[in-house]
Amino acid sequence: MPEPHPRTPVAHPVIAIAGLGIESSTFSPARTEAPAFHPLRGDDVVTRYPFLAAGEPLREAADWRGALVGKSLPGGTVTAGAFAELSDELIERLAALGRVDGLWYDIHGAMSVEGLDDPEAALLARIRETVGPDVIVSTSMDLHGNVSRELAHGSDLITCYRMAPHEDAMETKERAARNLVDLLGSGAGRPVKAWVPVPVLLAGEQTSTRIEPARSVYAAVADVEAADGVTDAAIWVGYAWADEPRNRAAVVVTGPAEAAVAAGAERLARGFWDARHDFAFVAPTGTLDECLAAALASPARPYFISDTGDNPTAGGAGDVTWTLQRLLERPDLTAADGPTAIYASVPGPEAVATAVAAGVGAEVTVTAGAEVDDRHAGPVTLTGVVHAIKHGDRDARVEVVIRVGGLHVIVTELRKPYHHEKDFTDLSLEPRGADLVIVKIGYLEPELFAMARDWKMALTPGGVDQDLARLGHHRIRRPMFPFDADMPEPDLTARIIPPSHAPLAGRDE
Ligand SMILES: [Zn+2]
Repeated sequence: MPEPHPRTPVAHPVIAIAGLGIESSTFSPARTEAPAFHPLRGDDVVTRYPFLAAGEPLREAADWRGALVGKSLPGGTVTAGAFAELSDELIERLAALGRVDGLWYDIHGAMSVEGLDDPEAALLARIRETVGPDVIVSTSMDLHGNVSRELAHGSDLITCYRMAPHEDAMETKERAARNLVDLLGSGAGRPVKAWVPVPVLLAGEQTSTRIEPARSVYAAVADVEAADGVTDAAIWVGYAWADEPRNRAAVVVTGPAEAAVAAGAERLARGFWDARHDFAFVAPTGTLDECLAAALASPARPYFISDTGDNPTAGGAGDVTWTLQRLLERPDLTAADGPTAIYASVPGPEAVATAVAAGVGAEVTVTAGAEVDDRHAGPVTLTGVVHAIKHGDRDARVEVVIRVGGLHVIVTELRKPYHHEKDFTDLSLEPRGADLVIVKIGYLEPELFAMARDWKMALTPGGVDQDLARLGHHRIRRPMFPFDADMPEPDLTARIIPPSHAPLAGRDE
């Protein structure tokens, strides 16, 4: 269904940039407020992208105008008030930009908002009302985002990352921006969009593109994109820690030729579906006790254990104490002559203040954690020696280490992810020389992976529990793999989504 009339080519288009990005768990009691998005406005939006720096070809190809772009660390559901405040300002600023030819919608795609399903599509509908139906919209997303039929409808081009971990994040944004400029410059009609929902919902830790089967499933994206008549192709894994009807995998292929985009989308959807039984965790998993037993018995040092259920970079509250409580209950870990272990981390502002007042070397008894998410364990009390104090961290603000026997516990004023060796060495900790390093994380970030001589993922409880069945989704579409393991073959034929200026009839199946 291409546009009936060719468009007038626009040599130097005016392109607005707007979007809100967060990955937010509906299974966490945490809430996200507007300041967490660190919203950028006007030229500050444009300069956040290296490929739009002065002198870059893409920068010179269009007149880029920032409306508002906000990006938050993963967290809990966004409050209705925060979403309204940010959306209202975004729309106001967009309206003030005047007439635009194109809009680049830079989002994550896994934002949950109180009382609202599919907020990214809802915001795009408001954007469309503001800029008008003729404007071409190019949407760029994280592959852990969700693509509803409505979001695909409101977008003219839509794409996402092809790598997890997301080493191609900037490349993807650049592709979305470049395809938009090229389309506007060509005068071609709106692309045809072939969308295929794939009823599979998996944890990100099962779908790393560094290993099979995701490596091969995603390798096909470039092949599909290279075909005649195709502009872009993308596979979304979707986001498993929100309980909304849109949460599942999806494929969209865009381009001028309907037959080519439909064939490409069906090939990618088929590849994902056929691989569904082969997706496995990127590392061996076990209960916390199983992981500790394996680590203590192993000669590999340091041995890393991911405390996955409360991973703050996936949407966990970051203050679950369940794992730390269990570590402190083990005499073998808290003995003075026990193994050297590091635990990262638990927020506890009062504990931090007490440790700072006492000073390095002092013995303190402090209580931390479970202020936000206390469903699995209450606040934890530690008695130990203050090993280190550090001020001035961007996320944590103040960090302290309290040593209980051989167990070194990092306590922070505010939650902070620990992804880099320096995060530890700045606190007088030597992860390379430790026996055990236990971190709230999913798959190990590259620097931790490089340090670990061996590792396991502990399936611990929290807002981003990796044991999806344990979470209790009620609102996702069923049947869904792996919740309904023996489900019948789904319909993987391409749905051609009407262009954004034409109505979206029927309903999502
Ligand atoms: Zn992601």
